[in-house]
Amino acid sequence: MNLPDSSSLADRAESALAACGVEWPAGDLSARTPITGTQLRTVRQHSGREVDDAVDAAHRAFLTWRTVPAPARGAVVRRLGSLLTEHKDDLAEIVTLEAGKVTSEALGEVQEMIDICEFAVGLSRQLYGRTMPSERPGHRLTETWHPLGVVGVISAFNFPVAVWSWNTAIALVCGDAVVWKPSETTPLTALACDALLRRALADCQAPIDVHQLVVGGRDVGEALVDNPLVALVSATGSVRMGRAVAPRVAERFGRSLLELGGNNAAVVTPSADLELAVRGIVFSAAGTAGQRCTSLRRLIVHESIADNVVDRVASAYAQLQVGSPFDSGVLVGPLINEAAFETMQKSLSAARADGGTVVCGGDRVGDSGFYVTPALVRMPAQTEVVRAETFAPILYVLTYTDFDDAIALHNGVPQGLSSSIFTLDQREAERFLAADGSDCGIANVNIGTSGAEIGGAFGGEKETGGGRESGSDSWKAYMRRATNTVNYSDQLPLAQGVEFG
Ligand code: NAD
Repeated sequence: MNLPDSSSLADRAESALAACGVEWPAGDLSARTPITGTQLRTVRQHSGREVDDAVDAAHRAFLTWRTVPAPARGAVVRRLGSLLTEHKDDLAEIVTLEAGKVTSEALGEVQEMIDICEFAVGLSRQLYGRTMPSERPGHRLTETWHPLGVVGVISAFNFPVAVWSWNTAIALVCGDAVVWKPSETTPLTALACDALLRRALADCQAPIDVHQLVVGGRDVGEALVDNPLVALVSATGSVRMGRAVAPRVAERFGRSLLELGGNNAAVVTPSADLELAVRGIVFSAAGTAGQRCTSLRRLIVHESIADNVVDRVASAYAQLQVGSPFDSGVLVGPLINEAAFETMQKSLSAARADGGTVVCGGDRVGDSGFYVTPALVRMPAQTEVVRAETFAPILYVLTYTDFDDAIALHNGVPQGLSSSIFTLDQREAERFLAADGSDCGIANVNIGTSGAEIGGAFGGEKETGGGRESGSDSWKAYMRRATNTVNYSDQLPLAQGVEFG
């Protein structure tokens, strides 16, 4: 495996950061690339005290920003979208360097940012409230949506820019200010996004302080979570993180929007178009080296076609090129770090101990960075290791005989993010989407579990946290609702016919 040398990667990072206008001092946080496992540069981190200062500044800016008409707020997001389009290659380059995504996926992630900006600009003229019929004559009953306040965004390493943009584009048109704590693993992508947004704000004469970047690890995240001026904490990451964050926010009656881990499955039924199914399965399970929250981790296949499906997936896996994400032809880049590799190996050992058979993959490739061949593992049952999310390319295969059992297996895990069924049988497809079908926030037919579009609401149930971001009416989480009753009569009738005096 040919990998670029580490100094050329550091140079690439510097030029992409410079193109985006980043000016950020060096410090004690080491920004590394999973391509070679080496340092790109260092970055100054924030202290807990500085987080509070950032929240204060964002809150002051919010007090003005909330009164700017929403379509004028949309103009900032429109400008951000045009800067993202202009710097698409630069940002994608940093995403590849820091998160190890192959170029096409890194470009796709930036495209997702551009798409959400377009969506948010349209939304800036559509933050509709309802009018309800009042039971009292001469009265008007309506609801109005108002800006909420400061939104604290905590994001994970694997979608280092898209998750920020889902939150920020929507929060800004909703009239909120944002304080962003990116993953400590991907600070450089965050510096680039922050620089571009600052430019958009300046170009539109909007208050610069409506966006604040705070860099650091868990302690910086905790300071944000505990600050009472943070009205909404939108946190994306592991279930472990969500368990720590949710009670702290609840303690102070803040709002939280949680986008946590998934353990996504696809059911493959006897009528499935197997050619199409295998393509969907391979992209979902091996793409992004299994490091998407929506990555396919469990395959639930009818016993009559299981051998055939496993053979087909194994031969597709044999064709996958693993290597530098900058190389054309490579579809599987590196794992984020050594810890991810160790966790993957532990899960494979646990699967073997549970009676699983590794059909292919799971081996380390090369000796710099942490590259692995995607693993395909047949399991006799849905054991503990299968029920846990291992953030690496492991696809467990389970079989079923009866369709109800397939659904029970499918739903028999603690997480509830994404799901799919491959079938040409309409009854099975509809059942999978029905109330007694998949219990996930995302349920697909004849496509894989990963690769959502921004137009729909994104998120999941159970341990995935219940939050919804991005499209549809997810914007409502970023606003507060006021119910208004206006009496335009000269009488004062009370509701429910109550007489008083
Ligand atoms: P992680 O939980 O280790 O870290 C996520 C973020 O939370 C980081 O910014 C981290 O610094 C911060 N954090 C950790 N503990 C915290 C605490 N106690 N208080 C405040 N902040 C804290 O996750 P990761 O390894 O970066 O990302 C992978 C995980 O994220 C996977 O579980 C994946 O499924 C999940 N994820 C979910 C979604 C989704 O939309 N559901 C999207 C992307 C990733």
